[in-house]
Amino acid sequence: MTITLKKLEGGETAIAPEAVESLATGLRGAVIRPDEPGYDTSRSLWNGMIDRRPGLVIRALGTGDIQTAVNFARDNGLLMAVRGGGHQIAGLAVAEGALLLDLSQMRSVHVDAARRRVHVDPGALLGDMDRETQLYGLAVPSGVNSTTGVAGLTLGGGFGWITRKYGMTIDNLVSAKLVTADGQLRHVSAEENPDLFWAIRGGGGNFGVVAAFEFQAHPVGPEVMSGLLIHPIAEARELLQAFRGICDRAPDELTVWAVLRQAPPLPFLPEEWHGREVLILAACYSGDMAEGEAAMAELRSLGAPIVDVISPHPFSGWQAAFDPLLVPGARNYWKSHDFLALNDAAIDTILSAVKDLPDPASEVFIAHVGGAMARVANDATAFPQRDAHFTMNVHTRWEDPTKDAACIGWARALFDAAAPHSAGSVYVNFVPGDEPGRLADAYGGNLARLAEIKARHDPGNLFRVNHNIVPDKTAAKTPMAAK
Ligand code: FAD
Repeated sequence: MTITLKKLEGGETAIAPEAVESLATGLRGAVIRPDEPGYDTSRSLWNGMIDRRPGLVIRALGTGDIQTAVNFARDNGLLMAVRGGGHQIAGLAVAEGALLLDLSQMRSVHVDAARRRVHVDPGALLGDMDRETQLYGLAVPSGVNSTTGVAGLTLGGGFGWITRKYGMTIDNLVSAKLVTADGQLRHVSAEENPDLFWAIRGGGGNFGVVAAFEFQAHPVGPEVMSGLLIHPIAEARELLQAFRGICDRAPDELTVWAVLRQAPPLPFLPEEWHGREVLILAACYSGDMAEGEAAMAELRSLGAPIVDVISPHPFSGWQAAFDPLLVPGARNYWKSHDFLALNDAAIDTILSAVKDLPDPASEVFIAHVGGAMARVANDATAFPQRDAHFTMNVHTRWEDPTKDAACIGWARALFDAAAPHSAGSVYVNFVPGDEPGRLADAYGGNLARLAEIKARHDPGNLFRVNHNIVPDKTAAKTPMAAK
């Protein structure tokens, strides 16, 4: 079977069967053609809106396979997509007709407990990392849904329950192995290839394919004071004002996220509340249990919650607490704003939209960030939004394709209405596929340096199936040099 693949600069090229066979022979992993078993697994992403058919899949099992794939794509001028955990909302892990480098089988995690260092393969999920690190009472800050890929999350920045205490995922990245566009395997760290190390801490997959990550871990758990407070939506205005104050004064250990949605049928929630709009305050204290109890007292004293299920929970279980609401396959469209402060007008805008949720699965998340994350300079890593105190993510989620226009329209309307109260910036990992113009909002003053580094290491823009940073060739002085 002759394989047809999209070219990097447009058009298509035919790859002869012998060339595909010879590619396969050089791999520890496998090539998967469109008619072969495993093809649909490789191309299926978390967001059910994305249904793209790559021309050929390379399912990698090691760094050598990644290098082979990069060389094959570059030498043949092919458009190539790279898949980690497949969670990105924009679905840029797969492209129609392209070569797909699927890293999802590379899920090893190795913990060096004595040095508190964690070595993670590029297909590992957050839950893989938590399971291994928690064996030693350690954790690396990451996100709040355990089936998210470590790779994409890290390359965009990464924040979750313990970020305010221990920093973002990128703040705990010690080094990475990176296969760059020239096919070289580079060790990148603060000492080696520091420009690339700076760029991959927020700049996504623009600079190469990461074959392994090395993280710093911290003592966390095995249990953390954590859980949910669920309130009627009628009380939400006053509660969100109080939430804002608690977040403003919170110690680094305390993180509280607000979720506005229809109540799911949680076993601990009285049945009469199922399907009604509620405000969920989800809290985690990453520290001593008694201190956590004290730090959460004010939050727990607010209003008259329908349920209060805050208590010690295993950290790895808490990390997966939202998984049932975020299972793969549903249709999803997200819109996101950062806020420096959550003013009354922003609260009113969100509450007014929540009166009109387009689907029972849709919700608005308000993530409380800052703390250690904010004590890093905006230009210390490619990720620049260190000043944000809250990040709103409009998680529009539904199953029925006939609801696409209504759901997307609802998300856009809330996004537009909230814009005047926002910081104007956005976390790149929350940017949907139809917002190419938001690259400047995602990178701010760091965009020019990213474009210059891109021009030095990937002048041909081989790694372009991503939130693409176009090489600034006018700024590049030393092509392909490892500065
Ligand atoms: P993929 O879709 O596989 O990849 C995303 C991008 O990274 C693609 O462009 C891909 O080409 C590139 N890429 C992947 N692997 C590599 C590699 N090894 N080398 C080079 N490029 C690569 N983010 C947070 O910070 N905190 C959260 O709490 C959080 N919660 C989330 C919850 C859900 C349900 C979802 C869907 C997302 C969440 N995110 C969160 C956002 C998440 O960080 C991004 O979606 C991230 O891109 C997912 O990484 P992935 O490996 O699964 O993605």
